[in-house]
Amino acid sequence: MESELIELTVARAADRIRSGELTADEYFDAWRERAAGDSLNAYLWRADVKAQADLEGSRAAQEDADGRSLAGIPIAVKDIFCTEGIPTTAASRILEGYRPPYTATAVRNLRRSGARILGKTNMDEFAMGSSNENSGYGPVLNPWDSGRVPGGSSGGSAAAVAGRLAPCAIGTDTGGSIRQPAALCGIVGMKPTYGAVSRYGMIAFASSLDQCGPLTRDVTDAALLMQALEGRDPCDSTSLGIDGGIEPPSREDLRGLSFGVPRELASEAEGIESGVREVFERTVALIEELGGEVAETELPHAPHGISAYYVLAPAEASANLARYDGVRYGLRVAGEDLTEMYEDTRARGFGAEVKRRIMLGTYALSSGYYEAYYGRAQRVRTKIAEDFKKAFERFDFVVTPTSPTVAFKLGAKTDDPLAMYMNDYCTVPMPLAGIPAISVPAGVAQPDGGGPELPVGFQVAGPAFSDSAILDAAYALERAIGFRRDGGAE
Ligand code: GLN
Repeated sequence: MESELIELTVARAADRIRSGELTADEYFDAWRERAAGDSLNAYLWRADVKAQADLEGSRAAQEDADGRSLAGIPIAVKDIFCTEGIPTTAASRILEGYRPPYTATAVRNLRRSGARILGKTNMDEFAMGSSNENSGYGPVLNPWDSGRVPGGSSGGSAAAVAGRLAPCAIGTDTGGSIRQPAALCGIVGMKPTYGAVSRYGMIAFASSLDQCGPLTRDVTDAALLMQALEGRDPCDSTSLGIDGGIEPPSREDLRGLSFGVPRELASEAEGIESGVREVFERTVALIEELGGEVAETELPHAPHGISAYYVLAPAEASANLARYDGVRYGLRVAGEDLTEMYEDTRARGFGAEVKRRIMLGTYALSSGYYEAYYGRAQRVRTKIAEDFKKAFERFDFVVTPTSPTVAFKLGAKTDDPLAMYMNDYCTVPMPLAGIPAISVPAGVAQPDGGGPELPVGFQVAGPAFSDSAILDAAYALERAIGFRRDGGAE
């Protein structure tokens, strides 16, 4: 019985709960038990006491489950979202013991739709990373092969969904942190249009790039979560929501839609594994079989995305992380005087990658270098946005592999930050342009040099606020791909 419940998608479980066939408690307990057996280090906090779960999970939603889209659905929340009274660390030692006095709007919106918090998921510290090895609380393991990384920074959320430790999850994406771990774990991950979902209560990494989005088993579930998440929020002046909301996806073919394949992020891209390339090409052929039109296009400035991103994101991070001073939140290491207290707290509290970013960002913003680094990176960002605009005059969508590689071995790239940064080659241009993109599992492939078959993601990006259209196209594609958890594409 329990295993049958675990196999339900969120959409199906919500239907059963609404019809009274299944109680929210029974469903929550089944998932709580699964989460309790976490052997992937996916969770940093779990709702382990039922009473507490009830408290956190909004009793009201239970009593008034009717009609709510996510009534009784347990959800895994990346530990970057503030949750009132529940530990929130962004996987940093500097926030150890911190319990926020309020809840992020994204989480509140999910609860308002009836969802309950199942746990807080592990991640790269302050969302800086692509492998989840930068967590202050140990790495997350990939459920397909526990010797490999799940991707990052939303690695805990992706591993929890793929490893059947949660029915669905939310994460954040600044340069690829939802789409890349979704790809490496064989699930769906979506980064919405910048401004679609409120950032209020989401611990800031790079504020002009950060977006919250769903990690789910299928596209229908991603749309369900998006319906609850999106919306304008007076507490976040950059939030707009999505006009007309999110439509439930229903497309069965891709007739009348055009897809551009940017050569810079596909045929000409370096470092794409041969197995990933094969799955990508097979999926492009499938688009044509479904009646979609496919042609090559160009995004001439996209190859500079990584360079621009690794100036802009650290610059914003260095400013955002100035608040962790030992006074206001979490850790304090007492020193001789105030300056020593600041220094010792930050030295002890932050991990190596976070320190690297703060140094990079502070340097890029320093007077005399500001124009040469930050100013120039901003201009590259504008060029990238213009490239997309031009491509969307001709095409409805742009498609690329999500990640250049399948999941790599733990430790394989930890000594080489530049190799690690290249993971984001195909995902970084979209947040720089503020546009939405989804990754759907498209098949399995061996890594270059051999090894087990591992999931490969296919990325579909569209113009700002085309979130519903992207979900719709991804839905048709997902049906045609027929990806199976246990054996790849049919
Ligand atoms: N991997 C990228 C980085 O390390 C992206 C992270 C993210 O999207 N949060 O910054």
